[in-house]
Amino acid sequence: MNRYLKNNLSKEVQERLQSAKVLICGCGGLGSGVISNLAGLGIGTLGLCDFDKVEITNLNRQFIHKYENIGKFKTESAQEWIKSYNPDIKIKLFTEPVKEDMFKDFDIIADCTDNFKTKFQLNDFALNTGKALVHAGVQGEMGQIMSIIPHQTACLRCVLEEKPEETGILKNISPIVNTIAAIESLEVFKLISDKENALLNKVLFINFKDYSFKTIKFSKNPHCIC
Ligand SMILES: [Zn+2]
Repeated sequence: MNRYLKNNLSKEVQERLQSAKVLICGCGGLGSGVISNLAGLGIGTLGLCDFDKVEITNLNRQFIHKYENIGKFKTESAQEWIKSYNPDIKIKLFTEPVKEDMFKDFDIIADCTDNFKTKFQLNDFALNTGKALVHAGVQGEMGQIMSIIPHQTACLRCVLEEKPEETGILKNISPIVNTIAAIESLEVFKLISDKENALLNKVLFINFKDYSFKTIKFSKNPHCIC
């Protein structure tokens, strides 16, 4: 029996997923959820980039990392989970800070990092290499997701002209982080199968405190580097 039977996708779309190559930058909070969702969808090649090791404080929300993997690199721990779940997926590990050069072998980049400095860096690498980027971020009870097709749609710098202040210690609970990760994975799916309905030139903002979902349109800023 075909393991993707219950995806109920056309043969053509399922094959597109299986030939897609997605680089996941960050294998922590967002990354763990994105890895499991993309593995479930049947993305053929997953690149995993992270230089952190699994810590006990990750285990409140990063379900692919096992207790016995505390102290191991997150890339290796994530690889172990993928292999046990779906041995058909090809995996490339980058246990180091993200570099522009890593983008070349992938079709889509998923931003699963936890700071705006790296998020802007990923945006610029995507602009330089022309690779599609799914941006996602979570700050306490707020989250946002957008996709970027370089030079065609608004980029992160069109939306945020400067890096927002990062404030102290915020709630970091699994239902919120994993919901954003699930929507980020859905964006990867849409970029492959249904681009017209992806979050292009718009940002989805979610406030989990009152469950408000808002989609705000943005256009390319003529003064932006993109
Ligand atoms: Zn821009």
